[in-house]
Amino acid sequence: MQDFIDDNRIENILNRAYNPDPLQVREIIAKAYELKGLSPEDVAVLLQIEDDELIDQILQAAHKIKEDIYGNRLVIFAPLYVANHCANNCLYCGFRRDNKELNRVALTMDQIAKEVQVLEREGHKRLLMLCGEHPSRSSLEYFMEAIETAYAVKTEHGGEIRRINVEIAPLEVDEYRQLKKTGIGTAVLFQETYHHETYKTMHPSGPKKDYAKRLTAMHRAQEGGIDDVGIGALFGLYHYKYEVLGLLLHALQLEKDCGVGPHTISIPRLEPAFNAPTAIKPPHPVSDHDFKKLVAIIRLAVPYTGMILSTRESPAMRSEVFALGISQISAGSRTNPGGYQDDTSDAFRAAQFNLGDTRTLDEVILDITERGHIPSFCTACYRLGRTGKDFMDLAKPGLIQKFCQTNALFTFKEYLMDYAGSQTRKAGEKLISETLAKSFKTKRKHMAENRLQQIEEGTRDVYI
Ligand code: SAM
Ligand code: SF4
Repeated sequence: MQDFIDDNRIENILNRAYNPDPLQVREIIAKAYELKGLSPEDVAVLLQIEDDELIDQILQAAHKIKEDIYGNRLVIFAPLYVANHCANNCLYCGFRRDNKELNRVALTMDQIAKEVQVLEREGHKRLLMLCGEHPSRSSLEYFMEAIETAYAVKTEHGGEIRRINVEIAPLEVDEYRQLKKTGIGTAVLFQETYHHETYKTMHPSGPKKDYAKRLTAMHRAQEGGIDDVGIGALFGLYHYKYEVLGLLLHALQLEKDCGVGPHTISIPRLEPAFNAPTAIKPPHPVSDHDFKKLVAIIRLAVPYTGMILSTRESPAMRSEVFALGISQISAGSRTNPGGYQDDTSDAFRAAQFNLGDTRTLDEVILDITERGHIPSFCTACYRLGRTGKDFMDLAKPGLIQKFCQTNALFTFKEYLMDYAGSQTRKAGEKLISETLAKSFKTKRKHMAENRLQQIEEGTRDVYI
């Protein structure tokens, strides 16, 4: 598998779309409403729009598409950093090898279990497990043991982790095959920047220098049997318009070669990081205005791909972009290994980057509930084998919504019963009743009410 990103092609597509005709823009937005996605040429036209009225139309379209496909649920997860040793020198990252002032940590299995206990007791069911890239301190064997350890942790109220997604350095096909056996959900990997020259500058040494190896990793993951893969770009390293086209070309290439595109796209923006000057002064900062525009354009371009927003963003920005197409969010996060048990003031000395949203899980849940989004801890698709192409075959005709919305209500109800503060519980019960009344027809409503009653009486892990 070879490098398939051609810088000249992306530059040409963007240049040809410069100063777009409003009529053409309206036609492209109309096409997006058909939910069939957009070509790179169409996306370039949208990216080149600077007119606020037209941008507003894109935001409105994104909102409608998000509601049609994903409804008002938001899937919640927590990142779990297990080790911060790294052989790479990514200029923007606190974990980079040359950062001699970072407190280096590789959690023991016992410490990992304790971190997971804290997360389960907050109410988490889904984790994204991560680490730096280091041959001995973050080996694949160590990482797989960490996954098994986390899955084995059980706490009161049926507290358990039901899905672990992973974000680690590129592997070979056989290694992905081994990883799959540990029961992971999605394998996620960000290309960081699709622009070759910038990639070279930002990754001066270590195995990550190899652009093509990273670019093709999600193809190898698919070949190794991991059929849900996630891609992403780190916004702020190069022009956002270029990166959006890079993401789209990556998604299209996966679809062409593997029969299914990425399950998720992540859109992290560069955050300040301890002792990482590039992160403090990003070479191509993305304004809030452009960030909202790019989220909306991605929603129009790949309507069936989940979009992930992390706690890098502030609470205010998060609530604005939820409506534009975000389907998954992290909450209550720490980016230093061990940070959930030990939240000391110098945690930043072991952290990967600073957080924009430092609220607890319950504070985030209360906020999104009051804004009308249903928090979901659902893991049903992955556990019932609705992954990869099977998932997309359900998503495209709009059938997945029913599963997602119903399971969101069930898992939210569990959260309300077992972990929520009193204010969240009250707001949550109200949202569940309103959702049942507004969006559920007789037979489905009856079934959902029955199951919710069972949860009220103590049954757990209910899903369809
Ligand atoms: N070490 C592996 C890697 O680089 O792929 C695993 C993932 S790393 C722990 C998670 C991601 O954090 C990176 O891919 C990068 O995009 C992101 N990251 C690093 N420094 C960051 C910063 N200063 N602000 C925001 N995100 C950052
Ligand atoms: Fe290491 Fe990943 Fe940080 Fe780069 S981004 S220094 S590879 S942890």
